[in-house]
Amino acid sequence: MSSVIPPGSTIGIMGGGQLGRMLSMAAAQLGYRCHIFAPEETSPGAEVSAASSCADYSDDAALSAFAAACDVVTYEFENVPVAPLAAIAGKVPLRPSPRALEIAQSRIDEKRFVTDLGGRAAPYGFAETAEDVAAAMAIAGTPAIIKSNRMGYDGKGQARVMPGDDPVARWHEAGGVPAIIEGFVDFDAEFSVILARGLDGDIRFWDSAENAHVAGILDRSSVPASAAISAQVPAARALAAKVAQALDYVGVLTLEFFATGDGPVFNEMAPRVHNSGHWTIEGAFTSQFENHIRAICGLPLGETALACHSAEMHNLIGEDASRWPDLLADPANHLHLYGKHRAAPGRKMGHVTRISLEPRARQP
Ligand code: AMP
Repeated sequence: MSSVIPPGSTIGIMGGGQLGRMLSMAAAQLGYRCHIFAPEETSPGAEVSAASSCADYSDDAALSAFAAACDVVTYEFENVPVAPLAAIAGKVPLRPSPRALEIAQSRIDEKRFVTDLGGRAAPYGFAETAEDVAAAMAIAGTPAIIKSNRMGYDGKGQARVMPGDDPVARWHEAGGVPAIIEGFVDFDAEFSVILARGLDGDIRFWDSAENAHVAGILDRSSVPASAAISAQVPAARALAAKVAQALDYVGVLTLEFFATGDGPVFNEMAPRVHNSGHWTIEGAFTSQFENHIRAICGLPLGETALACHSAEMHNLIGEDASRWPDLLADPANHLHLYGKHRAAPGRKMGHVTRISLEPRARQP
């Protein structure tokens, strides 16, 4: 298996959401073809890709045919079942490895993995059944957040336990499934560390964005982050680099943190490009999408430095995307719409990025 996958080759992407779409667009710029594998008939990713397979993630025959059609396979969706994916790993290079995916799919495994490497997380307990809730609450304290161990994202599968609440009732609200119960972190701000690690082990970081969430969903990311965050970035980066090295990671990896008075507190990781890095398309020399493609294809990584003074990305959630005429009326907006046919509350339909450059003279 040659380690460099040259332009002209086919990149397989498991998952057809907006991350797959933006990966595919970055890959096309470098002369690659993308093949999306997703269970949906149409998807934002498939609409901009050269080929697509519509099948269940655990359809072994469809996966084998997909692997045979691709020169390298990556994933943009975190909940792809690991076993079928591991089965194709012998047929085609799979980057990042299924091990990273396996860890990130379980909040408890993820917390253990990162804290074993020296990361600090909020105090947490694990409640597999209703009987475990009291013991987990004793570790977490009140207030606490219950998060389903698997399949939770964008605040889904979560419930808060406030003073006076019945924790068992809240655990049922969070799905009544195995869950982490973690103490509420009194944070000053939230930020993410996004890095790309090449096939040769080279690691590059983008500037850490300051992230603001609304109802558990990312609302906006801005760079440069506040001073409170910048002071914690070196420690957070050191941890993220350890995670990447321990996994012999290839591609873009994201770790999310809370900035607190006692330093960075690890929240969660994503073995993929991340919503808080969308600003890199216009705001950095090389975007997270391009560097992910470069990494998995064994190419040198591109420069990650800021290409502007500041950048701010806003997500367009649900009906926000219908504001596109107003957004386009401002020539400074970079509008991205994901081509999703139906808007729903909480659904990410697009994003808009504004960058600011140092004032300079324009040509007359
Ligand atoms: P998560 O799904 O873990 O990323 O949580 C979504 C959002 O909920 C985070 O970005 C925070 O804004 C908030 N959150 C999650 N966990 C905690 C915590 N332990 N303490 C305070 N806020 C939290």
